[in-house]
Amino acid sequence: MGNIKDYAICTLGSHTALQILKGAKDEGIRAIAVCQKGQEDIYKHFGVADEIILVDSFKNFFEIEDKLVKANAIMIPHGSFVSYLGWQKVQDIKVMHYGSKGILEWESDRVKERDWLKAAGLKLPRLFKSPEDIDCPVIIKFHGAKGGKGYFIAKSTKEFYERIKEYPGEEGYVIQEYVVGVPVYTHYFYSLINEELEVMSFDKRYESNADSIGRIASKDQMEAGIRTSYTIVGNIPIVVRESLLPEIFKMGRNVVTESRKLIDYKTGKPISKGLYGSFCLEAIVDPELNFNVFEISARIVAGTNPFINGSPYTWLRYNEPMSTGRRIARDIKQAIEMDKLDLILG
Ligand code: AMP
Repeated sequence: MGNIKDYAICTLGSHTALQILKGAKDEGIRAIAVCQKGQEDIYKHFGVADEIILVDSFKNFFEIEDKLVKANAIMIPHGSFVSYLGWQKVQDIKVMHYGSKGILEWESDRVKERDWLKAAGLKLPRLFKSPEDIDCPVIIKFHGAKGGKGYFIAKSTKEFYERIKEYPGEEGYVIQEYVVGVPVYTHYFYSLINEELEVMSFDKRYESNADSIGRIASKDQMEAGIRTSYTIVGNIPIVVRESLLPEIFKMGRNVVTESRKLIDYKTGKPISKGLYGSFCLEAIVDPELNFNVFEISARIVAGTNPFINGSPYTWLRYNEPMSTGRRIARDIKQAIEMDKLDLILG
């Protein structure tokens, strides 16, 4: 039987690091934070890390990688990790990696991601190949847009061409139907150890200025000439109608099943382990209660941060505080103790 004392869990000090590190410690596993100089204080302050390794920039990750390898550390990739290194560089890391690396290519490409979700039978917002086809309100998303910044809304072809002038040099974008409804982000967890899908929690994002426009009268909105922006400031917990849960579980299971057919660009073969660990479906729920899924994140999302002490759903299942970070650590712990670590490394 493997011993968890021989291993460590590591992550970059950003995004969801607090709950990942705390989760590791709660499960009895050594926790290592890789922090950018000047940002280490909060990880010290909250006492979540057994060790802090400093780098000038996360981009210099490879300079300290050997230290992590020597510590027998398992890297938990989160949004900042993928965004600083890029999915291509993640393929080359030597340190043990929790999760399928091949999936990262699929989630980083809006077209590929769409094929996957469609194959899983999900309802997706319509996509317009050409601005000439616009026949309803649309949201234009630039490929490089980060954290919801730099999207714009248009109602017609004419408006599209007027607004796009404000983004010179931006070439890659998608034109998506703007679905009127409420955003619901579902945080799933799928374990290869017990082959079970769990719903951990839900959130919606707190976005500036999209979430502030409604605070002023429509007359003032018009006069102010505000451009809607979805820059993320924080996350707000949600509990959904209980009758929606069967559909939500079904969507998650279908996405996992379909992920095993996706082709790994390196081997040209299906990613046999598929998607596992933490992932999130991002949807707009319309008045007919359809989940219009516009994105998947194939790793832990920041929307799980309100649930460091668990969510109503994890409380039902675990009867003890269970964050997504801790759930990942438990998966790792079980894998080590069952001598199945290879199963959960990608
Ligand atoms: P994203 O960066 O793709 O997560 O999107 C940022 C925000 O834009 C979301 O939180 C939603 O509020 C909004 N959004 C994205 N896609 C759509 C869509 N197709 N219809 C309506 N709202 C959307």
